[in-house]
This record gives sequence, C-alpha cells and structure tokens, in this order.
Amino acid sequence: MYVVDVGPQYEGERVRKGDFQVEFGGPEISRKAELVTVKGMDEVEHDRITITGKDIKEMPEGSSSPLFINVSMAGELLERDLEGVLERRIHQYINYVEGIFHMGQRNEIWIRIHKNSFKKGLDSFEHIGRILIDLFTAELPVIEKMSIEFITDLAKVEELAAEAVKVYKSRDEKVKGLREEDVEEFYGCVLCQSFAPTHVCIITAERVSLCGAINWFDGRAAVKVDPEGAQFAIPKGNLIDPEGISYDTVNQVVAERSMGETTRFNLHSALSYPHTSCGCFEAIVFYIPEVDGFGIVNRDFVGATVTGEPFSTLAGMASGGKQNEGYVGIGVQYLLSPKFLISDGGYNRVAWMPSNLKEIAKENIPAEMFDKIATEKDVQNVDELTAFMQNAGRL
Ligand code: SF4
Ligand code: ZN
Repeated sequence: MYVVDVGPQYEGERVRKGDFQVEFGGPEISRKAELVTVKGMDEVEHDRITITGKDIKEMPEGSSSPLFINVSMAGELLERDLEGVLERRIHQYINYVEGIFHMGQRNEIWIRIHKNSFKKGLDSFEHIGRILIDLFTAELPVIEKMSIEFITDLAKVEELAAEAVKVYKSRDEKVKGLREEDVEEFYGCVLCQSFAPTHVCIITAERVSLCGAINWFDGRAAVKVDPEGAQFAIPKGNLIDPEGISYDTVNQVVAERSMGETTRFNLHSALSYPHTSCGCFEAIVFYIPEVDGFGIVNRDFVGATVTGEPFSTLAGMASGGKQNEGYVGIGVQYLLSPKFLISDGGYNRVAWMPSNLKEIAKENIPAEMFDKIATEKDVQNVDELTAFMQNAGRL
C-alpha cells in the first residue's frame, strides 16, 4: 500500500545533512508551521489531501523549503481542547515513516526526507498525507473525519503561519492564572522516549512541556481521549520538598517511566535534580559559573550565546533524557510562569538572555531586575557579562 515502510521502529531515525532529498523548515527557513483544527462534522471532507505549491518531486535535490501542514479533523467526541495534543502527534506519526525525520512543533518544525525513501517512491505529499490520515484514524478512533493540506507556496505559508501563531497564543493564554496549588493532578508525557529513552516530561499548571506544545489543559484533554496514550495523569501527591518543589508521586512516576534512570525532579530548578530534556525544548537554561547566574537561549537565536556556544552546542549538552545539573530545556511559555526557576531564585538568577526572549518574558520579570539582565545587545562574552553584572550591583 505504501511506497515505504511505516512503523514505530523508524521513530528514532535521523536524516543527516547530505542524506536528505529535500527538507522543510529548520533554522534556515523562517516560514513553517503545522496546525490541527477541530471542526464541525460537515466542515471536513474526509480523506481529502491537497497540495498547494510545489510537491516534493518538483523540488531540487538538497533544497530547503517553507511548509505549512494544515490538518482539519472532526468527530462527535472531538473537542477543540484536543488540538494541541493532536498536533503533537504529527511529530510522532510522521516519524513512523521510513526515511522521514521530523523535529519541533508549531512554527518551529523541521522535516527531512531521505534520498533512499525518495528513490523508493516517497516523492509526493500525497503519500505522507495518506499515511498520516491512516495512522491518526486507526490510533484515535474519535477522529471520524480528517483532511490535510500541504502548502509550500511561500506567501501562503507566511499568511497561514501568522494566523497559526495567534492560535498557539490563545492556547497558551488559557493556562495563565492557574497555579499548581489549585489543581489535583499533573500530567506526564513520554512521547519522546523514541529519541531519548529515559526522558519523561512533567506538565503542571505552572510548567508547560519543554516542547511548548502541551500545557496542563492539553494534558487533561489528552488523558480523557486516549488513556493508554503517551500522556498520563499523575495525582499531585505530597510536596516532599517545598523549596525544591518536589512531589513524591511525580518522583515515583519519573522513576518508573525512566526505567530507574531518574528518581527525583525538582520541578522548578535547573541546578538540583533538574527536569530532564529530550531534544525538543524551545529554549535552554544554562548555568554560567563565572557569574553564578543563568543564560537562556531559544532555538531561533542565531550565533553564539554569551559563553561562546551556540544553541546547537548547548542543546547537545542539555538533551538525551539524562539529568544534567546546570541545564534544563524549557518551553518559552515557562518564562511567564510564576514558578519560573523559583527554587534557584527565578529571574534574580538570570544573567543573560536574547533581547527577543526578554521582551516575551517582560511581564514576569521583576521591574527592578529588568535592566539588570544582559542581552546580546549589551555584552558579547563572559568578561563583559561579569562587568555588566558588577555595574548592576549584582556581583
Ligand atoms: Fe511529550 Fe515532552 Fe516530547 Fe513534548 S517534549 S512530546 S511533552 S515528551
Ligand atoms: Zn522531545
């Protein structure tokens, strides 16, 4: 039926530079996104696959292109609350395809198609659409209708991605104001164990998943629709360490699901028992010993951070599903959490972050700290950062 093989065994596969026929999104391409929209039963034409713009076979070998994957779903039991979780499954299912590598989520996706799979006939979005519709409807019977559109036309991608950003934002807004103290349950996710076998994500009311795609409401919705799926509920249990913010039930679940690799998470610390990271983080918090403070860098930041290392190098140190003291991967929305690294001092401990991230975090940074956190516009290396911190009276 398919021109290439499909199954979970291909999930951890990477497609390296030089091996890809075509790629979509990634750091070189600013216009890219994927979006799932739940619609009414009469608004979705089941099985419809459309391609707007060039198809895979029409693209030059080795090229990088914009892409928008627009998925519409309908079902009597489907709710709009599930959109974020369903959208995250694109990552899982597309990685089932032999020779396709998918990384990231929302408007940060990166997809590569291996030359070998292209040669086997995987030369059209038609095939990928078919596979995705079959997998989604087989795995999640609540989806009764599904259509998918692949858009590679730059202007169209740009327009749709801008709209999608508004949707992501409204999902993120929902969780604002909700506190860990107010809920009875947290959620876990192990979707990324195919890449990082001992990694477990814990999602609380004040900690969005590190991929940024799953917040507390998404976790709740996911558990309702697919109790056997990659996301699961965790009763909040007892706060065994109020400073470190560590819960007994969370720790038990982390120990079980990480096969004993990690036995404790301090949910809001990068320094002691930090949350592990797979590789999907939207941003990385990294400790800078010279100033006893943190740097934060997001995936889109181009060039070297204040320590001289670019995002990619730091990502290598932070990822892999192991607990790495001094490093923690985060979703960008976590910057707005009232518990943002609270066990380590929160923003009082932040020394450097890119100016665009600082702008996003602004409302959550204590006013007196705002000018005391350096950006790429203020300093270029650790010596300059040290001087900056001294001037700000922080060292
Ligand atoms: Fe799940 Fe975490 Fe992976 Fe996101 S990063 S898909 S929450 S395991
Ligand atoms: Zn991941």
